[in-house]
Amino acid sequence: MTSASGGPKLTDIVIAGGGSAGLCAALALKRYASDLSVEVIDARPPAAGSGDQRASAIAAAARRMLHELGIWNQIEGEAQPILSMEVTDSKLSDTVRPVLLTFGGNVTEGEPFAHMVPNGALGAALKKAAVQAGVQLSAPQTVDGFSLADGHMELALGSGETRPCRLLVAADGVRSRLRGLAGIRTNSWSYPQIAIVVNVRHERSHEGIAVEHFLPSGPFAILPLAGNRSSLVWTEKKVEAQALLESDDFVFQTELERRFGHRLGRIEVEGPRQGYPLGLVLARDFVRPRFALLGDAAHGIHPIAGQGLNLGFRDVAALSETLVDAHRLGLDIGALDVLQRYERWRRFDTWQMGVTTDLLNRLFSNDLAPVRSVRDIGLGLVERMPSLKKMFIGEAAGFGSETPKLLEGEGL
Ligand SMILES: Cc1cc2nc3c(=O)[nH]c(=O)nc-3n(C[C@H](O)[C@H](O)[C@H](O)COP(=O)(O)OP(=O)(O)OC[C@H]3O[C@@H](n4cnc5c(N)ncnc54)[C@H](O)[C@@H]3O)c2cc1C
Repeated sequence: MTSASGGPKLTDIVIAGGGSAGLCAALALKRYASDLSVEVIDARPPAAGSGDQRASAIAAAARRMLHELGIWNQIEGEAQPILSMEVTDSKLSDTVRPVLLTFGGNVTEGEPFAHMVPNGALGAALKKAAVQAGVQLSAPQTVDGFSLADGHMELALGSGETRPCRLLVAADGVRSRLRGLAGIRTNSWSYPQIAIVVNVRHERSHEGIAVEHFLPSGPFAILPLAGNRSSLVWTEKKVEAQALLESDDFVFQTELERRFGHRLGRIEVEGPRQGYPLGLVLARDFVRPRFALLGDAAHGIHPIAGQGLNLGFRDVAALSETLVDAHRLGLDIGALDVLQRYERWRRFDTWQMGVTTDLLNRLFSNDLAPVRSVRDIGLGLVERMPSLKKMFIGEAAGFGSETPKLLEGEGL
């Protein structure tokens, strides 16, 4: 793209990072402010994302946004509603794992609090819809740097090109290089754990029940997929996880069955095992002049509650509403005071979720007898308090105070 003067044309919004958060933001912005030019620049070639075996628990609020953006009807056939959730707290050697807590029910009539959606299907649907809406997807390359110029931001691309834009949205993932270049500090640490992700097929139906076994080395989550299949997020201490990832099929299957149990009959591993090192990264600021963080670039959290991408979708909804409102009022979408509305909207919620997941992981990933008995009493108390459970369901569904319009299923 070149301007009349021969230099590269000014793009209104460049989003660095075409993961689910970046693509969804591009789609929402183009949908409601079609006169803005929106470009997504991603480092990976188009097919690279299809290797992701994971499925994500998409909360009801995020599902409403995907529905409003025309994505949900594209992926609904592959989505599995989570109808209820069971929580156990036991040792690996325990033969019986009593269910200490159950969550269930819909947020509104016929609307489950979450669905499991394969990441591959979600990414493909977002990409297709973004292109159809008029988002420019660049050839695979990195955004390597940026500098503030007069009234715009000048981007340096991996190809050696430059790209002027009015706003750079950094959606470049948890190890965001752009966050560092913007001088934004984080509070971060890594957990001594790796999440092993693997999908299994089983004999009997899961009936839409998700199970979280809290085991001493970390949570073992069985998340229902469409058909007689489940996605497992199996957290282990680093050394054990590495050994399991490299073990032969017989050893892996044996260890898997010890944790999975026999409730769903015979189980068979489908596809490869993948390992994800875990950590917590919380950005102290979300914005700078002509610069905003989005998705994991702003917050990487433990998957214990399946909320990382949901947080990213909440960023998408808040950022889109902020920018579309500002644009309609004739304001500069890159101005710091405009972007600070987004930061105020998102920072507290993000830190709250980060801290909560961190505490949950510390509380449950250990085998100290006094801690176990206190947490089990706590789970038992929650089980007997329907109003508290209802509040937790509302939180898990992604509704809180000041919910952005898109998460209520309303257009901008
Ligand atoms: C085991 C596990 C299970 C999970 N389960 C759930 C769940 O059930 N529910 C849930 O809500 N969340 C879940 N999450 C979290 C969720 O996967 C992440 O929050 C989400 O994928 C982040 O999306 P993103 O678009 O922000 O970042 P990413 O998906 O990391 O995308 C970043 C993109 O930026 C690109 N990029 C990087 N650097 C540059 C650059 N310099 N220039 C251009 N492009 C660049 C990369 O190529 C990549 O495509 C889970 C996470 C893990 C590890």
